[in-house]
Amino acid sequence: MNSPHNIYIHVPFCVSKCNYCAFFSRACKEPDWTEYEQRIIQEINYWEKKLGRISIPTIFFGGGTPSLMPTKVFDNIVSKINSAFNLNKDFEITLEANPGTIDEQKLNDFIIAGVNRLSIGVQSLDDEKLRFLGRRHDAKSALKILKLASHKNIKVSADFIYGLPEETVKDIKKICADINSLGLTHCSMYELTIEPNTLFGKMNLNMPSNEEMADMYDAIDKNLKLPRYEVSNYAVPGQECLHNLNVWDGQPYIGIGQGAAGRILIDNQWYEQIGGGERFEKLSSTARAEERIITGLRQVRGVFLDSDTEKIINMQYVQDNPDLLQKTSDNRLITTKQGMLFLDELILKLVR
Ligand code: SF4
Repeated sequence: MNSPHNIYIHVPFCVSKCNYCAFFSRACKEPDWTEYEQRIIQEINYWEKKLGRISIPTIFFGGGTPSLMPTKVFDNIVSKINSAFNLNKDFEITLEANPGTIDEQKLNDFIIAGVNRLSIGVQSLDDEKLRFLGRRHDAKSALKILKLASHKNIKVSADFIYGLPEETVKDIKKICADINSLGLTHCSMYELTIEPNTLFGKMNLNMPSNEEMADMYDAIDKNLKLPRYEVSNYAVPGQECLHNLNVWDGQPYIGIGQGAAGRILIDNQWYEQIGGGERFEKLSSTARAEERIITGLRQVRGVFLDSDTEKIINMQYVQDNPDLLQKTSDNRLITTKQGMLFLDELILKLVR
């Protein structure tokens, strides 16, 4: 029997393209949902043949804008997964949702079909900033869906973007105070990065410097009431995103949908996978251990040290830099707050 695999399903459609967006998504007024569903089901059939009746701890519908999906299509996909594999009893199914694309009726239907975690793309509670980012919604509609979701028996998270041009630590403190007043149990705080091939990439924006960004990052940690559990993620303990925890800890996962990536484990051999298996290549245990170190060290609880990770970690570097890295009694390597600020640099020195 093959190992449990988490599932990521990509939904590439959006109402329009945001000004900063470099994700695999396209603006589409009327997506062909029948065709989309058929392709996803075909991919599930492929993995059923390849992996057999494995257990599935989590499913994550990411986008794009998954909340645009008709609930019937969502229901058919989840039912197919349920019949092909064994969905764990304590499964988590996350749906990414954008304000303005989901009302109470639709939310209820998604919940009936299995959604028990909603991740809402709020991004800002300031209408001017939302317009600048090219978002379709306003703060009022974001607050409305947050309120609606908070009354359901599901986990709720909200995404925010910080580090906009001219933004300062003072603005960040205000943003944190606003978020604190919402009583959220999970939120993600993403730094605005300017990618080429986006509208922002073509504009000459006056972005905060690296030092200013680091100060804002620090201000979030100090002012947000939720504890950080990963570089960009904050949650009341127990409310973390289980799907992401599993993936960051190095569990196998299948990527379904155009452009989705996965890491598959068959008979103790790792494979790198993109899309419906069309690219499916062996991955050495060293390469996989390196990935696990990178995603593990982004978490506050760090990376578990096993024989594969220990082989490539420079322990002398750990001993020489206790202000950046520490080994715990339960054999995990954790990054200190200071270390989190230099994570990329640190990993280059740490991994042999
Ligand atoms: S809603 Fe998300 S995926 Fe869609 S265009 Fe905006 S940022 Fe990109």
